[in-house]
Amino acid sequence: MTFMNILVTGGAGFIGSHTCVALMQAGHQVIVADNLSNSKAETIDKIKQITGYDVTFYRVDVTEEETVDDIFAKHSIDGIIHFAGFKAVGESVEKPLAYYYNNIVSTMVLAKVSKKYNVNRFVFSSSATVYGENEVPFVETMELLPTTNPYGETKAISERILTDVSKSNPDFSVSLLRYFNPVGAHESGLIGEAPTGIPNNLMPYVTQVAKRKLDKLRVYGNDYPTVDGTGVRDYIHVMDLAEGHVAALNNLTEGVHIYNLGTGQGTSVLQLVKAFEEVNNIEVPYEIVERRPGDIAKCYADVSKARRELNWIAQRGIAEMCRDAWRFNTFAD
Ligand code: NAD
Ligand code: UDP
Repeated sequence: MTFMNILVTGGAGFIGSHTCVALMQAGHQVIVADNLSNSKAETIDKIKQITGYDVTFYRVDVTEEETVDDIFAKHSIDGIIHFAGFKAVGESVEKPLAYYYNNIVSTMVLAKVSKKYNVNRFVFSSSATVYGENEVPFVETMELLPTTNPYGETKAISERILTDVSKSNPDFSVSLLRYFNPVGAHESGLIGEAPTGIPNNLMPYVTQVAKRKLDKLRVYGNDYPTVDGTGVRDYIHVMDLAEGHVAALNNLTEGVHIYNLGTGQGTSVLQLVKAFEEVNNIEVPYEIVERRPGDIAKCYADVSKARRELNWIAQRGIAEMCRDAWRFNTFAD
C-alpha cells in the first residue's frame, strides 16, 4: 500500500477528527483545513495525543479559492476527503442560502483546485438523506427521491457536481460515501461529538439527559410502522465510519463510486434508549411526543457493495456505540 498525504477538510469536526486518527494509524499523513465554525482547535491536539503523530492544521474557510490554492501550492497532496460543511437539517430550512453557499461552493472550489494541481483522488461526505422516502434497505443503485430540506439538497447537488467533474476528466477518482447515523466516539474518550446548544440528534440528546443536563428525552412519535412504533435508523460507530474512509481511499479507482456506510441493522429509538441504559447502567427518562416534521419511519442500508468492493464492514455494535458516547461525555466534563 502506498502512504499518502491527505487534505482533510472539516478535520476538526466529529467525523473528520476520527477519520484523521484512522488515516494516521493506517500510515497516511493528514493536513487539516477547518475554519472551526463548528469545532475547536483543541481537537487537533487530541488527535496528536491519540496517534502520537503531528498534524498540519490550517484554520481556513474552504469556500475561499485563493486560500485553498495556497494549501495545494505548499503541500504535495495525494487526495482529499471533504467533510467541511454545515449539517443541521432544521437550521438549513431557516438559512437555505448559508447552506447552499457553504456546502456547494466548498465542493466546487475543492474540485477546481484539485484539477489545477492534478490531484485526482476525492472522497466526499454524502448522506443517506439523499435516498428520501425510498423502500428500505437503501441500495446505491436506487433513484434518488427529493429530500425534504436544503441540507439534503446540498448533498444531492454536490454528488451530481462531482459526478459531472468525473465525466469531464477520466483521471478523476471520486468516492461518494453515504453515511447513515454516525454515533459514539473514539475508544480513548478524548474525541467525540460535542454539539453546541441543545442537540438535534438522538444520541447526543440521550447523553445530555443521562448527564441530567436535560430533563427527559422527547421521543418523536410511536405510531410509525416499525417494531415498537418509534423511528428506526442505522446507527454506525464513528470509528467504523472512519475506517470506511480509509478503505474507500485505498481502493479508489478512476470514475465515480458510491458506497453506503452503515451497519445494515435498524434500531428503534426505544431500543437505543434501552441499550444505553443497560450498557451504562444509567436511567434515561423519556416521554412520547408528536412526530418530528420531515422524519421518515425507517432508514437503513444495504451494505453489500462496501463489503464486496472495499472489503469493509462495520465491526462495532450498539453496545459499543452507547458505551463510547457516554465515556466521551463523562470525560468531557
Ligand atoms: P461537524 O460539524 O462536526 O464537522 C464539520 C467541520 O467542518 C467542522 O469542524 C466545521 O468547523 C468545518 N467547516 C464547516 N464549514 C467549513 C468551511 N467553509 N471551511 C472550513 N471548515 C468548515 O460535522 P460532522 O458530523 O463531522 O459531519 C462531517 C460531514 O459529514 C458533513 O459534510 C456532514 O454533512 C456529513 N454527514 C454527517 C452526518 C452526521 O450525522 N454527523 C451524516 C451524514 C453526513
Ligand atoms: N429522535 C427522537 N428524539 C430526539 C432526537 C431524535 O425521538 O430528541 C428520533 C428521530 O425522530 C429519529 C431518530 O431519533 O427517528 C434519529 O434521529 P436523528 O435526528 O438522530 O437522525 P436522523 O433523523 O437524521 O436520522
